[in-house]
Amino acid sequence: MALKITFHGGAETVTGSNFLIQTDTAKAKTARGGSPDTPLSGVSRVLVDCGVEQGSEYSKRRAYEPFPYNPKEIHALVITHAHLDHVGRAPRLVREGFRGKVYMTPPTRDLAELILRDSVDILAENAKRHGLPLLYEEKDVEAFLSHVELLPYHEEREIVPGLSVYLRNTGHILGSASVRFKTAEASLAITSDIGNSPSPLLPDVEPIDDADAIVMESVYGDKHVPEKEHRVKIFKESLRRALARALTRGGQGGTIMIPAFSMERTQLMLYELSNFFSAKEIPEVPVFLDSPLAIAITNIYRKWAKEYFKKDAQQKLAKEGDILNFPFLKMTRSREESEAIAGVKGRKIIIAGAGMSHGGRIGRHEARYLPDKNSTLFIVGYQAPGSPGRILQDGGKRVRINGHEVQVRAKVETLHGWSAHADRDGLLKFAESCLPRTKTFFTALGEPSSARFLAQRIHGFLGRPAIVPMEGQSFRITKEGARFEK
Ligand SMILES: [Zn+2]
Repeated sequence: MALKITFHGGAETVTGSNFLIQTDTAKAKTARGGSPDTPLSGVSRVLVDCGVEQGSEYSKRRAYEPFPYNPKEIHALVITHAHLDHVGRAPRLVREGFRGKVYMTPPTRDLAELILRDSVDILAENAKRHGLPLLYEEKDVEAFLSHVELLPYHEEREIVPGLSVYLRNTGHILGSASVRFKTAEASLAITSDIGNSPSPLLPDVEPIDDADAIVMESVYGDKHVPEKEHRVKIFKESLRRALARALTRGGQGGTIMIPAFSMERTQLMLYELSNFFSAKEIPEVPVFLDSPLAIAITNIYRKWAKEYFKKDAQQKLAKEGDILNFPFLKMTRSREESEAIAGVKGRKIIIAGAGMSHGGRIGRHEARYLPDKNSTLFIVGYQAPGSPGRILQDGGKRVRINGHEVQVRAKVETLHGWSAHADRDGLLKFAESCLPRTKTFFTALGEPSSARFLAQRIHGFLGRPAIVPMEGQSFRITKEGARFEK
């Protein structure tokens, strides 16, 4: 039975993950006879991810473009993880007639529900501001969730006649998975985002040793991140210096602000802070997690910790109890609690969204504390050009926050190595771990330069063809690898 992949999103770009897998089921119908929601013959269509493109205005317009296939003709959808660039267009798919099952791991289901519900308000606000139609509403998110069928790691399941899927951990965020498809004739895997293993919380990315062709992510295909190994030490030392600077005589005391991405990075930071405090490596100061979304996500991490955290973390959990909590941590959910932080005297640490300082609660804290020379802002993730976070990172002395000019006297420091993505060496090491079975690699989910760089390295170091697919291109997968198809 023919196995085919078409690159509809995430080709030569980081976000908007969307791959179409097709099989010809004509020969496979006899075994099961099919069920009402699976086709008896003809072509089966399965999507992997249905994500939004993020970043530029062009991307925002793209979110409104029609799907390049008929949602009514898609038989199943597999979601690799709960980032919006992988799941953000899925409710719209349901709104436009998709009626199949949606497969994902149990933590991904919980996280996706949170992220999608959260996005409904943001979408509604955007739509109002720019006079755009609503991409989806709460009821579409509900409908999407009603289609979910949980698929834990390491369970082979036939999702349409003759085509089975198998999920493996990728160590990127809680519940993140690679997807391996198998028919009687060939197998194909899509890694989706590969984590920055080793992580203190999640198990390492698992090699895929049973796929004839693999589509790999390539976000950092050309980037070396040497700070990764020392990031905890750097974080601790920077924190100590910032806390020393925050010690003012008789005054208010400086504030340390961390605009954080609410998923994975926030939990990693809480984990490291908890370690620093229990080892008495930094002074005891209150830490505020000032983000309802990050608090809810942290609770989902706690819920699944026993099953989905790595062995070391599970042992620590059994011994110490909650490893994402510590005595000085205050979770501020309500607006009142959040506003009350300003009245807390003395040194303090605030973790709040959004990660690029372009909204959320961090703005209020930045407006108050950026003009203070005893305060510090830590940047822990990628800052898009033009975002307030990028202006701060580039040393800007004035920045526009919530519509007001703010003077920057606080120290702004970037902490590298906290990304949830493998760097170029991590990606190559992963590709190597998939040999000898894999005959062809594709490099996707990265800018053209990093996708090409990774492809060249796979070819040069591992001696395997590596293709940089373009949007809309299709390939037939066989035991010998992949063949371009018109
Ligand atoms: Zn991701």
